[in-house]
Parts: sequence; structure tokens; C-alpha cells
Amino acid sequence: MPNAELLHHNATQFKKSIVELAPGVWTAVGFAASTQHLIEGRSSLTVVDTSESTGAAKNILVEFRKLSDKPIERIIYTHSHRDHISGATVFCEDREIPIIASASFESDLIGQDENTISPTKSLNQRTLAQFGIGLNSEQRISLGCGPGERPMEGMGAGHIPPNQLIEGDQTMDLDGVQVQLLMAPGETADHMVVWMPDAGVLIPGDNWYHAFPNLYAIRGTPYRDFAAWADSLAMLAALNADVLAPGHTMPVFGKEQVLEVLETTRQAILHVMRHTAEGMNAGLSHDDIASSIRLPDEIADKPWLGEFYGKASWSARAFAAGTLGWYDGNPTHLGTLSSKQRAGHMAKLAGGIEALSAECASTEDLQWRLELCDHLIALEYQPAVLLKADALEQLADTEINATARNTYLWSAKQLREENGSD
Ligand SMILES: [Zn+2]
Repeated sequence: MPNAELLHHNATQFKKSIVELAPGVWTAVGFAASTQHLIEGRSSLTVVDTSESTGAAKNILVEFRKLSDKPIERIIYTHSHRDHISGATVFCEDREIPIIASASFESDLIGQDENTISPTKSLNQRTLAQFGIGLNSEQRISLGCGPGERPMEGMGAGHIPPNQLIEGDQTMDLDGVQVQLLMAPGETADHMVVWMPDAGVLIPGDNWYHAFPNLYAIRGTPYRDFAAWADSLAMLAALNADVLAPGHTMPVFGKEQVLEVLETTRQAILHVMRHTAEGMNAGLSHDDIASSIRLPDEIADKPWLGEFYGKASWSARAFAAGTLGWYDGNPTHLGTLSSKQRAGHMAKLAGGIEALSAECASTEDLQWRLELCDHLIALEYQPAVLLKADALEQLADTEINATARNTYLWSAKQLREENGSD
């Protein structure tokens, strides 16, 4: 059975719904990996974020058309992640309209440009794994940031690049609705949030959602600026919004609740930074820093800090690597053994490959079993492949984090296929 908390998170945070935030302002939740927002003006509509596929966007447009038949005259992107910008062609309905984004609009997904030297294939593989692309619906119960089940048709197909770039904070009139577009670097450096002071509605993009912040995405991301994200959360909290409509998950209603979720998430980010910096200053290894991190008691039980999407231990590693790089100060790590050399030494220590394999099969510590499997696989000991697949599947069901769960199951599937046993 999958992790019960992850199942609950998926069932409650991604339930297909159109939620009214204030008169003339709605959010679509659960139709795609991300949420989309509709703002009704005097004689036209504004759509904020457009989903990851034309298939999802079509379904959302049907819902929006039940609310208003006014023309959609502009689109705003909160940031450049593909799950927010890939359904624009559907909402444009074949017309050329302003597509508004921050002047720093730029994806942190490294280039598809063949002239750039970059680990693009690795990024693509890890993205498939993180989102469980190719897993069946029983396995892929959640994306952590969105429902496991959603339309895949037209994935990435409907993007239109922004044609109106915003430099610095600006007030904008959306056909009679005054909004402020505020620069708020966080999950990405190009985040621009939409603040509607009259309605008290704040659309923060992905700077907040009901899950531990994804300070590091295991698909692979350059360093995300932790301090900037925490500062942006303080700025958002100071707006004193009545309603928070995140880029993923359900809206939050009530000034106090909005303040609490923003402030505690800021505290969580600062805690990761502090814990990691103190550990590094004390000369601890990245393993010891990551394995010992716990949120402080005051915020540990907040449901929105559950590690459904981001994870504190991964964040600690990212902060360590993002500040001082991969070297942890232990000179042992200046030299390098190959995986096979290390595995050879481990096997010798264990009393041979058979003994190593026996320990691997019998240990109840699944993480340790994975590590022993890797040694055995480095030594081309074939039975370890299925042993590893099995351990990954067992870990997946205990895992609260959707991206880890999907990656475990996706990798297990690969191992079984490679082994001809699927
Ligand atoms: Zn997103």
C-alpha cells in the first residue's frame, strides 16, 4: 500500500474543482499538474498560468467558459516552468493577445540547444522518473505538485513566448481590475506574483504550495536561491492577503491562515539554511547534515510542510553544494575510487561476493540494501539487479515524497526491463 499521507494529500489538494476566490476571480485545481486562474474584467478575461498541456488547457477552458463567455484578452505567466506555460495556444483561441511575464523570464530547465554542452539526456530521464511517466495509474498516485492522473495529450505543445515583459514591480489595469505584478524570486529567479489589493487575492505562483518547498528538484536543477525565496515569502506575508491561490494545490482562505502558511514556510527554509551552515561549520559530512535534519517542533507538524514534493534532507544537500560546492572539507574526498574499486574492497571486507550478497538480501535496512546492491551491481553480480528493484519498490510504498516514490518505481521498472523480467 502506498504511503497513506501521500494518498490523502493527493485526494484533498488535487481534487478537480473550480474555486471562487472573490467575486470575478477563480482558480482551477486538479485539472493539470499546476493550477490556472481566471480574472474577470469589464468586458474581457485574464488567465494566469496555462497548464502543461493543450489537453488539460482544453478541459480548463470548458470550465472557464461556464463562468463567463467574455473574450480572453491577456495571459500572465507567474514563471517559466513548463507546467505553467504550455497551454497558452488554447486560451488565446487563435488570436494574438498580450502574454505577460517578468523581464527575467527564463527556464531553469537546461537548454535543448544542441550546441550547448549539457547533461540534457540525464535531465530528461530524471524528469520522466520524477513524474513517473510510463508508470501505471496505480503506481503513479501523485506528482507531489499535482494529480497523478491528468491529460497527457499535447504535453508542452501550447507554449507561446511572452510578448510583454515587465521590468520591476508594476501596477496594471486588467480591464477594470487593478493588480500589482511583483517580482518575487523563489522557486525560480523569474517569479512574478499577481496581487489584487482590492479583492485581497494573492497569486504567488510556486513560491508557496501545500507541500515542503521544492528547494531542490531531483530531476536536476541549478542552485535555487534559498535566501531570496525566504525574503520573497516575507514580502508576500506583508501584503496581508485574505486569499492565497498557489500555483499548485488548493487555495488558502483567511488572513491568519495565509500569514501562517507563508511565515512557517519561510521559517522552514531558514531552518534548512541554518542547520546546514552550522553542520558545515562544525565540519560534518553532507551525509551527516542531510540525515540529521528535522524541522523545529513549532512547525514540524504543519500539514503544508509535509514532504510530498520537496524534502528537507535534499534541500540541505542543495544548500551545501550551492554555497561551497561539492567538497565537504574532508580531504578523504579529494581522492576518488571508482565504484568498482570500492565495491571490490567491500566484497573483500565482507568475505567475498557471496557473503556480501547474503548480507544484502538479509538486511532489513532498505537504504543499506540499496547501497550493497550498488556494490554488487558494480561487480556485475547479476542477481543484485532484481534485489535492487525489489528494495526500490518496497521503499516506494513507505515514501511520503511523490517524486521519490515515482523515481523509485520508475527505476525499478527500468531494472526489471533491463533484466528481461518485466
Ligand atoms: Zn509549478
